[in-house]
Order: sequence, then C-alpha cells, then structure tokens
Amino acid sequence: KVNDGLKKSRERLARDLANIVQGGRIEELEEVLEELEEVLITSDLGVDTVDKILDDLRAESRAQRLEKREDIKNGLKKSLVRILEAKSNVGVALAKAESPPTIIMVIGANGMGKTTTIGKLAARLRQDGSSVLVAACDTFRAAAVDQLEEWVRRADVDIVVPKPEQKSPSGVLFGAVEKAFEGKYDYLIVDTSGRLHTNANLMGELQKMVRVVSKFKENGPDETLLVVDASIGRNAVAQADTWKKEVGVTALAVTKLDGTARAGFVVSCVDELDIPVKLIGVGESIDDLRDFDAELFVDGLVG
Ligand code: GDP
Repeated sequence: KVNDGLKKSRERLARDLANIVQGGRIEELEEVLEELEEVLITSDLGVDTVDKILDDLRAESRAQRLEKREDIKNGLKKSLVRILEAKSNVGVALAKAESPPTIIMVIGANGMGKTTTIGKLAARLRQDGSSVLVAACDTFRAAAVDQLEEWVRRADVDIVVPKPEQKSPSGVLFGAVEKAFEGKYDYLIVDTSGRLHTNANLMGELQKMVRVVSKFKENGPDETLLVVDASIGRNAVAQADTWKKEVGVTALAVTKLDGTARAGFVVSCVDELDIPVKLIGVGESIDDLRDFDAELFVDGLVG
C-alpha cells in the first residue's frame, strides 16, 4: 500500500524525474546519471547516498537491466530499498522490556512534533491492548502539559502531571516511574522539555532524568526516542548526532513527512546515522503514525 503521507515528496521527485525517465533507449549512461545526480541531491539525499545509488545503476546497466530511460525508476527504487535494508537499523521494532513497564523517553526541540507523537504512540499502544501511563515532565511550559492532557484524553490512557509547586522534571519523573511500577503499567512514555539543544541546562536536566530511570532500571530507559521534523531536512542529521552524544538516542521518530517535499533525507538519515528510524509521522491525526518500513517508504517516495 502506497503511503500517501509522502505525496508531496513523491510529486516533486516525479516532476524532477520526468525528463530523465522519458525518451527511449539510454545512449550515454553517464550523461543520464549526471542529470539524475542533480535531481537526487535536490531531493535532500546526501552525496554519499547518491553515489551509492549511481553505482547501483551502473551495475544494473552492466547486467543489462537498464536499457531504456523508463527503467531508471525501477533501478532507483531497487537501489533505495537495498541501501535502506543494508542497515541493521531498519525494521527494528520499538523496544519492549522483558518485565514492564517499558520506559520510553521522548526528546527533541520544541515544535518538532513531540507532543503529537506521544499522543499517537500512546493511542496505538492502547489500541494494541497495552496499559499506558504518560509522564508530563515539561515543567517549563504549562501549555505543553495542557496539550499533552488533551492528547492523552483522546488516546484513552493515564497521565501524571506536575503538582503546582513542582518545578523539577526529574521530580515529576520519579513519581511517574513509581506509579508505573505500582500500577503495573505496560508502558511509561515520558515527555520532556524541548528548549533548544544548545542549552546546557536542558542537556543536564535530561541526563538527570536518565539517572532517575536508572534507579529503577539498571540500563536506564528502554528507548530514548528523538523526534525530528522532516522539514528541517539534512539539518536533522547533525541535530541527531548532538542529541546522541549528550543524552543518548536509541531511535528516531521523523514527523511531518506529509508536509514536506524533503522526505528523501530520511534515506540519508538511515544511511549515515547509526540510529534506527523507527517511527514516521504522516499527518496531524491520532492514527497518522507508521512504523518505518523500507519498501513501503520507497514506494511512497518514488511511486
Ligand atoms: P512539540 O512542540 O514538539 O511538542 O510539537 P507538537 O506536537 O505540538 O507539534 C507541533 C505542530 O506540528 C502541531 O501543529 C502538530 O499538529 C504538527 N505535527 C506534528 N506531527 C505532525 C505530522 O506528522 N504531520 C503534520 N502535518 N503535522 C504534524
């Protein structure tokens, strides 16, 4: 099933590819590849990833599977799937602890779609029959807590919010982890503050939160999910590296893929970062969250 959330990216790629994939037999492969290179780079694929694609197409040509220009689209799809599946980080499911609760800490700069992603994820886990507790640990923004409460109502799960005098995210988290164990919840999803990652205080606070979880679970959170907005394109790769060094990131959720024509960068994210993309957001509704699947993604991107 083609993923309609990638419609904008697919339309742009199709438009940019239109001239390349029409016109019968390929006379000069390298000339065609040069045109293709430009299209792929403007689609936010990184240079290294594009090089791999061009090499794959040269191999296809040698194997005589690339004779007509229209074959380029299939060659491109095959190559993208190959590149994605070559990574052990593709198709990895979201962590599930052997003994509950599974603790998922969700981090990311403000505006990336953290609250929305938590709401969608909570709803999905709930629909699958799990009990879910959400910890609203963004004590810096009252509005963030309100917004999260709204999502939690829709998802039909439970929430822990800061008490009026509570200003420490770690304090809220401690209470929430206790409640998750006592209430035998299957999942605890932790919302965190998302002021910009250049803020040393924020990193310090997040590290403290990891230590709080470590008091209950030797290895800390089962998953530290970084939420990045697809429309920031390749900047997300650099951002993810920083968060990984400072707090540790075990998985990425890429949001707003429906709102951008830059979905191609996800391929480079997978190719360049040693962090699995586990979830993608393709809309604003509660059911617009998907697992990352290489073939579905490439179908959605290339059509
Ligand atoms: P936060 O500040 O990181 O918690 O971000 P929010 O969850 O509040 O999201 C910011 C905006 O992005 C909101 O208007 C959301 O509706 C929107 N948003 C989040 N995820 C998606 C998505 O996958 N697709 C689209 N189109 N919008 C999204």
